[in-house]
Amino acid sequence: MGNFIKYLIFGVIGLVVIGILTYQYSDSAKKQVQLQALDTVHDLATNRMKKQAENGSTSVAAEFINLPIEATEVADGVFRVTGIGNIYMVTTDAGNVLFDTGLVMQVPKQIAAMKEVVQDNKLSHIILSHSHADHIGGVKYWREEGVEIIAHDQFTEEQRYLKALEPYLHNRNRLLFPFMPEKPPTAEMIAYGGITPTLTVKEGDSYRLELGGKVMEIYAMAGAEGADNVVMWLPEQKVLLSGDFFGPMFPQFPNVFTMRGEKIRKPMEYIKSLNRLIELAPEVIMPGHLDPVRGEEKIVAGLTKMRDAVQYVHDETIAGMNSGKTLYQLMETISLPPELELSQAHGRVSWAVKSIWEYYATWFHFDRTTELYGVDRGDVMPDVVALAGVDALLDKARSFNKAGQPVHAMHIIEILLADPTQASDPSVNKVRLEALQLLLDEAINGIENSYEIYWLNAQIRLAEGAIAEEGEAP
Ligand SMILES: [Zn+2]
Repeated sequence: MGNFIKYLIFGVIGLVVIGILTYQYSDSAKKQVQLQALDTVHDLATNRMKKQAENGSTSVAAEFINLPIEATEVADGVFRVTGIGNIYMVTTDAGNVLFDTGLVMQVPKQIAAMKEVVQDNKLSHIILSHSHADHIGGVKYWREEGVEIIAHDQFTEEQRYLKALEPYLHNRNRLLFPFMPEKPPTAEMIAYGGITPTLTVKEGDSYRLELGGKVMEIYAMAGAEGADNVVMWLPEQKVLLSGDFFGPMFPQFPNVFTMRGEKIRKPMEYIKSLNRLIELAPEVIMPGHLDPVRGEEKIVAGLTKMRDAVQYVHDETIAGMNSGKTLYQLMETISLPPELELSQAHGRVSWAVKSIWEYYATWFHFDRTTELYGVDRGDVMPDVVALAGVDALLDKARSFNKAGQPVHAMHIIEILLADPTQASDPSVNKVRLEALQLLLDEAINGIENSYEIYWLNAQIRLAEGAIAEEGEAP
């Protein structure tokens, strides 16, 4: 990490110097130099991540960066550049329309790749599927005088809160994705945000764009990655450019609520959006990540399954709340019936149950008086540890591990971890590691939810770190 940060710092200083030097030159010359500098930073960062991948210490998310950056025609007059985030260009005689702009680091290579297949690059519109960094990063490099930027009416608000909470969210993301730089980038040319759409579409509305004889419809519909989701529909070709409406694959149980810590997303609005897409009956889905999905029958069946699965989990949660079941009972017992079975690699049913519960009932679970006050359970845990004895607690945790109940073991271990004198103790961390390994095995051999795996790996690194540190002490 040290070297990577050094490279990144040199890279960023380089960018700033180049930025100052080119300030007096024309906009396009400035852009050109900035793109070259950006490309250098990209290559350094990519090499670093590739090394991590070789060491096996990385995640599926890091592998996204190894996807080749290539441009191809994916439907008549629709071009795609691959990368971490896909960029699409719909070409017309009256100017081209860009759908999403990728992650800032990949912009130089993605622009160059697109130029190889679309010689007439005259842009008239940029459509932004939502405000996430892997979709809006390239706007300032693609945009030229007079280009319209179309986004959801909620785009500005989503971008505002993501920027306001950037340090907090960055730390959370960095725990899951340890290859990320220590701090979010601040240099203007790579910093997140600052995009002002020139035209917005309200939730539930659509905007019809007719350009050079081609029709494009932009639908504003809350999606699986935020309230500011828009999709673009090409009615003549029955092609849907979906951004992250479905998440990174199709079909799957959607990540209606992400554990990364973003704002809550509304389950019933998502179902409403899915119903609109079912009515369109797309023949092709062009997603924000990975490859197009083709075949109307398969697509409509997938959309219907996703809608019914979200509705099922939603209804079961509400029924459970009304019948007096506890949140944890519902997390344990609600599962998709066989006919609605979907991949939970991204979204997870038990977390959706918890999120739907909290979406309706919010922060006070009505269980414990202490929930109402600012004194943490951890504040009395050192007393509990002293009363019970460290050895007795560790024995209990070990026996839970042996019985194949790692979550039970984790509850005991968390009592110990709340005590600062125990948190760094190697024997506590060894039992912690056992429980985490059991959970990881279950996750890998079970539903393979990537976020659960990222989290467990992060916790394993912390436990291993505590064990190694103690071992090195004299
Ligand atoms: Zn994305």
